[in-house]
Amino acid sequence: MEDSVLNSNSNSQSNNRQTVPFNDAKIIIGLEVHVQLDTDSKLFCGCSTRFGEAANSQTCVVCTGMPGALPVINQRALELSIRTGLSLNCRIARSTKWDRKNYFYPDLPKGYQISQFDQPICGPGHLDIQTTEASGQPRRIRIERAHLEEDAGKSIHDESNDRQSSKIDLNRTGTPLLEIVTYPDIRTAAEAKAFLSELKLILNYIDVSDCNMQQGNLRCDANVNLHIPLRGQQIATPIVEIKNLNSFRAVERSITFEAQRQFEGWQENGVTIADAPKQTRGWNDHTQMTTLQREKEDSADYRYFPDPDLIAVKIEETQIKQIRSQLVQLPAILRELLVKEYNLKPDDAAVIVSQGRGVVDYFLTVADGCENSRVANNWIGQEVLRHLNESNQTIQQYPVSHQQFTELLKLVIAGTLDQTRGKEVLNAMVEHSISSEEAIKQLGIKSVDNSELVTLCETLMDENQNVVEQIRSGNEKAIGMLIGKARKKNPNANPGLVKAMLSKMITG
Ligand SMILES: [Zn+2]
Repeated sequence: MEDSVLNSNSNSQSNNRQTVPFNDAKIIIGLEVHVQLDTDSKLFCGCSTRFGEAANSQTCVVCTGMPGALPVINQRALELSIRTGLSLNCRIARSTKWDRKNYFYPDLPKGYQISQFDQPICGPGHLDIQTTEASGQPRRIRIERAHLEEDAGKSIHDESNDRQSSKIDLNRTGTPLLEIVTYPDIRTAAEAKAFLSELKLILNYIDVSDCNMQQGNLRCDANVNLHIPLRGQQIATPIVEIKNLNSFRAVERSITFEAQRQFEGWQENGVTIADAPKQTRGWNDHTQMTTLQREKEDSADYRYFPDPDLIAVKIEETQIKQIRSQLVQLPAILRELLVKEYNLKPDDAAVIVSQGRGVVDYFLTVADGCENSRVANNWIGQEVLRHLNESNQTIQQYPVSHQQFTELLKLVIAGTLDQTRGKEVLNAMVEHSISSEEAIKQLGIKSVDNSELVTLCETLMDENQNVVEQIRSGNEKAIGMLIGKARKKNPNANPGLVKAMLSKMITG
């Protein structure tokens, strides 16, 4: 009897759940981003942080946790953390301390990680991101904190050997990581990607990290759950932390997958945040699914306690002021500058700024030099970026200096070179690392004087009387045929001038 009552009851709840459409569920996302700071040495010892060296060649008694070894703080790591915090509008702590987070992993031989538990170096801040929302308004993602900690090493499992053999590389053990934690303000997978892109761009601009995701210098954990409206109530699904995402694509796809998985799980079993602890899942790139790793430890499981080997760090107001005074202009400011002062479309400005500070500087110098920001944007946005992309070069390696590029654009703007010839000249400049003047000479480009133009147009009219008739009888487009022929007869003749002269001579 009792069974049947329970069943009917749970069936009716289940029916209720089945009627909720997925689109009614709100996705709640918070990110924890681990950034490897660009220091020469590790956080608490002098070992090098260089990537790709022979395994275990960059270790010492401190980073391998030998008894009695004493850590010393890397001042550069503190400075880069403060610079990051200021760029993310964070409050910088005047006093910050170090805590041991105890856990056992073979790639962390000390048995604990030095981290910051209750006094992180950076307090609350925020980052505004551009979204595709119709309002066009940026979305503010609040940052809860950013704290410094040391990285662990790497376990290398030889899967070909059926995991019979596992090796350990401790070169990465002890490299400085800044962990940036957001509030759960992110609502879509696309927003998560936008946040990470903007954060990565800022970190590049302020020279804090190269953010090389393949090398693991920017990694991300995503905390995801759903808020689902049901009969006037808000139901929350258990929180899942997806660990170690190392590409934007993995972040986007794993969140999308996880939202759907949680929704279907809830429809099936009705389990909510009150019924289940936080869970850790991993993302599998091959299956495109998340898989259960473990029920998440909470902070009590780590038995945090202050590290007795390290004293608290005092940060002086003067130090913060000094770092603030050296901050470069951030991407958001530069996008605004390009739109407001240089009249670029927002999308064009975003493309230039996304290429890094070097391309922005190149653009600004060329735009100022040729006094035409639209032309500068067209040429840099298309020709220069295409070349850099194809040759996998940076703007610093581009063979055409900004002075030479400016000279070329001046000739294009003045009409001395048309677009097609201009591009031929640019290609020669890139290929042979020569000036526009030399390229023009090399290509045999000469200016054509007025009497030559008149003779050219007369010859064209004589030789193409049927086309001339078509133009006279109102088919203006037919003039294109004559311009094509003019180019063959004299490639130096400016097509714009030829066209103007022909129209005048034919239709008066
Ligand atoms: Zn070391």
